[in-house]
Amino acid sequence: MRINIRSKWEIEAIRRSCIIVKDVLNLLYELLQPGVKTKELDSKAEEYIMRSGGKPAFKGYKGFPATICVSINNELVHGIPDSRRVINEGDLVSIDVGVEMGGYYGDAAVTYAVGEVGDNIVKLMRAGQKSLMKAIENAKVGGCLYDISASIEEIAKSEGYSVAIEYTGHGIGTALHEPPSVPNYGVRGTGPKLKKGMVLAIEPMIIDGSNNLVVANDGWTVYTEDGSMCVHYEHTVAITEEGADILTDGIIWH
Ligand code: MG
Repeated sequence: MRINIRSKWEIEAIRRSCIIVKDVLNLLYELLQPGVKTKELDSKAEEYIMRSGGKPAFKGYKGFPATICVSINNELVHGIPDSRRVINEGDLVSIDVGVEMGGYYGDAAVTYAVGEVGDNIVKLMRAGQKSLMKAIENAKVGGCLYDISASIEEIAKSEGYSVAIEYTGHGIGTALHEPPSVPNYGVRGTGPKLKKGMVLAIEPMIIDGSNNLVVANDGWTVYTEDGSMCVHYEHTVAITEEGADILTDGIIWH
């Protein structure tokens, strides 16, 4: 497994794409109200990315038909925006955005509750956020790749949740997905040594129930078979001597 090492200059190029990703997510947060259609969110995202000089990284990727992924309630990832799909009060909505600019990629995701939701949902969201931040703390020079993975799994399991097995984080840079895979489970002290200049998209996917997943008939939308609610948080981070540099930093969480 060859993991790319990025120069300072390249990391800044990746950061420029990541800043657009962050801005899109914060724009969509403002627009995420009951009654909005997921396709409207997609159109706004595409418009913003194009105006910023970037390109939607997901559109056309293995045939994915849209700019963003919008996954609602028991949908975990890869939901396709649709002009008939309406966001309702109480929905748990994950949005994933990828941008390419000048040949460099950024990728991030966040899960929002729309309006009032139960304490169980708030607890699930907090666990997702906490696991991502813990994972990022473990993305350090001298550590091992699966320290990141283990920290996600440990937090999820300690709070009674499961993690997705089939879907993982990834290296990112001059392609949307590069080696290595960054699983949401693993054994501390194993995996490739982490080095300065590695850039990773770390993305906990945490489920309040069984992690049996199904792909819908649309060929993309991944949902929990038993209907369990789930969250997805993702940052693109660069490993530096001073610790992980969160290139998509500044995304509104709530
Ligand atoms: Mg990703």
